[in-house]
Amino acid sequence: MPRTDFLKETRIHDFSYNKKNELCCEKVPLRKILEKTGSPAYIYSSKTILEHLGKLQRAFRSVRPLICYSVKANANLAILKTLVRKGAGLDIVSGGELFRAGKVKCPGRKIVYAGVGKKDGEIRAAIRARILLFNVESVPELERINEIAKKMRRRVDVSLRINPNVDPHTHDYITTGKAETKFGIDFDRAREVYLASQKLTHARLSGVHVHIGSQIETGEPFVEAFRKILSFIDELEAAGVRIRFLNLGGGLGVIYSDENPQTADEFARKILPLFKKRKFQIIFEPGRFIVANAGVLAAKVLYLKETGVKKFLITDAGMNDLIRPAFYNAYHAIWPVMKRKDAKRWVFDVVGPICESGDFFAKGRELPEMRPGEFLAIMTAGAYGFTMSSNYNSRGRACEVLVKGGSFRVVRKRESYQDLVRGERI
Ligand code: PLP
Repeated sequence: MPRTDFLKETRIHDFSYNKKNELCCEKVPLRKILEKTGSPAYIYSSKTILEHLGKLQRAFRSVRPLICYSVKANANLAILKTLVRKGAGLDIVSGGELFRAGKVKCPGRKIVYAGVGKKDGEIRAAIRARILLFNVESVPELERINEIAKKMRRRVDVSLRINPNVDPHTHDYITTGKAETKFGIDFDRAREVYLASQKLTHARLSGVHVHIGSQIETGEPFVEAFRKILSFIDELEAAGVRIRFLNLGGGLGVIYSDENPQTADEFARKILPLFKKRKFQIIFEPGRFIVANAGVLAAKVLYLKETGVKKFLITDAGMNDLIRPAFYNAYHAIWPVMKRKDAKRWVFDVVGPICESGDFFAKGRELPEMRPGEFLAIMTAGAYGFTMSSNYNSRGRACEVLVKGGSFRVVRKRESYQDLVRGERI
């Protein structure tokens, strides 16, 4: 069964057609950008990004959370700066992301550092940057942080990531809160760690962290996980462990096609009652929710290939640019950059030029006819798009463009052949 594109022109983002039937990002036609930058190109709307941050800030204002945008979703410096300027902190997972945080002058007290395996140099750099919290997932790492902090004569705050064994009903590859995943520590083991941690001299176990997965569309899995976490905290406090930070992770789902995920307000209505009269600092780590539908990957149609069985639209973007379809079988709507009224609709596979059968953006998709030389936009590509891109097939990575109202800026240059071999020696 061919699938048509469900994603509607709606309130959720700032990509829409103007009177000339040109797809615009805010007020700028994509055609205009692509004439200047060439393709493929990631194009982001700063308005959409800020609106999403604002929705979360407003929905949760009664508890004044620290919203640490998850850098892994989209790490472009211009995007980080846009968010940091509006009060966001950053959730990082590597020394490289810490470096980026420094580049946009994110204050250390607004940085939380997660990840299942931090190296000594990364730990030292984070301590030097005076980050707010380390999110830790194993006892050996906790001990290592304590040792390093001791050598540096500093005290650091740490949250243990709890694995609450809750099924978030999302794709297996982005499920992280079930017992069989590598993430976090189960309640029984965690209880022992908190009680024993009182002996640690330089790592203060003052927080609890939970992140159950990504692209979660309903509130129930969150409520189930947070309830378990809160009763665990009650137990800890009764045993004399003081918890100052509760990091609730990210994971809010977005619309790729016909999903109907909770809004920030609906999410807040479900979970805020759980936190009444609680004193700790609440932290969120949203990634996808902030940037997913704030970005598209624009590509040019190179060829239309017809076999006896199928029609293929071959584009100049490939799985190295956007791996989500190959990796998760993810759905991305595809819109023409220039809508032609007379365009017939056909069923296409939209594919890239790479030597892999997994190199596709859509399969069996009913789309308006698009001709070689025309551009298309792969929608909702702002999260885990560019950050997961690679140089596979020695293809330079796409440029990135940030639109603000009626103007746009290239915020990352397209990679050149020289960029591809930088650092290599014969
Ligand atoms: N926090 C942690 C610990 C994560 O692992 C992730 C994503 O993998 C996030 C936050 C961001 O998740 P999302 O983009 O679904 O909001």
